[in-house]
Amino acid sequence: MSIFLNGSLKSLQAYVPGEQPQDKAYIKLNTNESPYPPTPLLQKKIDAGALCDLRLYPDPECAAARQAVADWYGVKRENVLLTNGSDEALSFLFMGFFENGVDFPDITYGFYKVFGDLYHLDYRELPLTEDFDINPKDYMATGRGKVIANPNAPTGKTLPLKDLYDIADSDPNYLLVIDEAYVDFGGETAIPLAMSRENVVVVGTFSKSRSLAGGRLGFAIGPKPIIDDLQKIRYSTNPYNINRLTLLAGECAMEDKAYFEKNCREIIETRDFTRQELLRRGFRCLPSCANFLFCAPPKAGGEAYYQALRDRGILVRHFGASRIRDFVRVTIGLKKDMEVFLAASDDILKGV
Ligand SMILES: *Cc1c(COP(=O)(O)O)cnc(C)c1O
Repeated sequence: MSIFLNGSLKSLQAYVPGEQPQDKAYIKLNTNESPYPPTPLLQKKIDAGALCDLRLYPDPECAAARQAVADWYGVKRENVLLTNGSDEALSFLFMGFFENGVDFPDITYGFYKVFGDLYHLDYRELPLTEDFDINPKDYMATGRGKVIANPNAPTGKTLPLKDLYDIADSDPNYLLVIDEAYVDFGGETAIPLAMSRENVVVVGTFSKSRSLAGGRLGFAIGPKPIIDDLQKIRYSTNPYNINRLTLLAGECAMEDKAYFEKNCREIIETRDFTRQELLRRGFRCLPSCANFLFCAPPKAGGEAYYQALRDRGILVRHFGASRIRDFVRVTIGLKKDMEVFLAASDDILKGV
């Protein structure tokens, strides 16, 4: 740390992303990326003209890609904000909307806490139940902002939409942010809730179900006044936050609906197959509506199991927090990857 950093940032603990090894060919099941490439349509559209256009700034209004997202979800373009990954949408929301405090679960996406610290917010981490469920009552009439990932990460569990309606309506003067990074793998979107209330925003991403983690494209959908506020923050930080190739990739992803649906269907099938196989082996494995499974091996501890998988060329994610130390989070890859993962697990567990 230099002597120049502001005092208010000295103790900030940054977000720790999952490993992105650049050396060895691992089977990568640690950061919830898609095992499938982006739609082949994209390759056709990235021609010499598109590359030449990189000399020009991208459209600050992101008109075409925003319209594609609006059309997909049946909302107006003015209800859509596009961002550099959904992390940026979340950053804008934490920056701008939670001066009266914000609540989120104790076990959830790690970035919420980091943003809470970065923006010096009064945040509370409300404990999930023993079974890793959100208790909706904890979030009702709190007089504070709320951020709920649905499905939640890293648990993969969902909260019924009805509970989200009740939470939103219990506290109409405070913002409810619903992070739907994994909704395409079996969840139910709350966009109709966001479009029928004044205090709800849904955040989504192209990183998981649309195979564009490396492209960095996310969005927020909600009432026009909130989207306008978010645009003000965006224009005050970086109006060119999404590059031309990524805007193009986003449009292609929305256009190729059949490809998207097929990939989601296959990931869901592979997930359900993998979960059955883990249960059969005596794992504890939470039901999942996401593209990952949260599971605890029958004998080895979570960290030892993570390490043993790593030694066998398979990366999964282990979190140190005490409540979930026994678990690892396993991204759903290709079926053949999951078969290698299961065989490696057998090998590890017979040695314990
Ligand atoms: C992956 C993830 C995101 C962020 O994704 P981006 O790549 O920044 O779009 C947001 N929320 C949750 C819960 C996630 O798991």
